Amino acid sequence: MKKTMNRGETGHWSDWRRQFSNRIKGLDALSGLLQLTSSEIKIYRDVIALYRYAVTPYYLSLIDWSDPDDPIRKQCIPDPGEIRFSLPGSEEDPLAERAHMPVPGLIHRYPDRVLAMVTGTCAVYCRHCNRKRAWRNPEAGTTREALYRMVDYVAGSPRVREVIVSGGDPLTMPLRLLDDFLKAFREIPHVEVLRIGTRIPVVLPMRITDDLCQMLAGHRPLWISTHFNHPREITPESTEACERLLKAGIPLSNQTVLLKGVNDSLEVIRDLCRGLQRIMVRPYYLFHCDAVQGTDHFRTDIRKGVEIIQGLWGKIGGLCIPNYVVDLPGGGGKALMIPSCLLEVGKDEAIFRTFEGKIVRYPCPEGADAGKLINP
Ligand SMILES: *Cc1c(COP(=O)(O)O)cnc(C)c1O
Ligand code: SF4
Repeated sequence: MKKTMNRGETGHWSDWRRQFSNRIKGLDALSGLLQLTSSEIKIYRDVIALYRYAVTPYYLSLIDWSDPDDPIRKQCIPDPGEIRFSLPGSEEDPLAERAHMPVPGLIHRYPDRVLAMVTGTCAVYCRHCNRKRAWRNPEAGTTREALYRMVDYVAGSPRVREVIVSGGDPLTMPLRLLDDFLKAFREIPHVEVLRIGTRIPVVLPMRITDDLCQMLAGHRPLWISTHFNHPREITPESTEACERLLKAGIPLSNQTVLLKGVNDSLEVIRDLCRGLQRIMVRPYYLFHCDAVQGTDHFRTDIRKGVEIIQGLWGKIGGLCIPNYVVDLPGGGGKALMIPSCLLEVGKDEAIFRTFEGKIVRYPCPEGADAGKLINP
């Protein structure tokens, strides 16, 4: 087993290239980490043959090995549950992303925005990834030529005003290539806004260098969506990465996936969202874990998520509360799950439930809602 890096090695530890090239991967390293027996080795060999793994020394250092249920460990260390396919309904591509690609790697589901999968590479392969199907056969437009086919499509689609650059992780791309790609979109007059979805601030925060920030700042308005799932991922390093991006004028929002055994409790989500607000990252979405093959062991009940959002409402500031959404199968798009406080609108009054559970009657202006009865 290759000797891994450790925090003591100042200089090296904060060098993102070293973090990337010293990622822990392969069966031998896994066997050493988990002290696998020979029969376990066989199982894990099958798991990683189907779904590869790689972990940066930094992210690995956040694991508490004394806790077999450690939430960081569950997100990055392969698990035999990945190949058990135990729950009904799991598919490789339940969101029918492949069916919504006008050109390879570009998903056009909503009228005004597209999602470009620009690479199949990530710094850490999240065990819960909903595109883990693509780890084996990348669907992304990874060559320069493929990237420009996406640009051509968007140039010819005047309704598209926002381009979401996703992957894989776009911030693992060569800087120059990403710069050119963003510039090509920027030059299209009807593209008003760019957005990058990335987990780099969480799993390889030292990659957020001045060079990178400067390049990104040149393409504003540009928003970044990060992917923090647990309050323990908010470290001095990830805080610093976010701070650099913010100072470059890039607003940050966060997408969390609700994962069984990782963050499926009111306390954990509350601490995460408060922590994100402290580092000026706006909680944007809480995603229900999709029925993606290889992630069954992370799936929760929808009611759990609703219960969590209900528990947050009114108890913590609105800026800390994400939208709980589920991506509907077959390309139905995201569906919002909001427990509503509005119970009924009648002729003269509306009926509400307060955040403390009291019922409040609210008078409607005379005539304003007459005759329109809704029952949300
Ligand atoms: C999630 C998603 C988007 C972005 O949706 P927002 O609600 O704007 O965040 C765009 N395209 C696809 C295919 C998506 O899955
Ligand atoms: S960083 Fe994103 S695309 Fe990459 S493995 Fe994690 S969830 Fe999947």
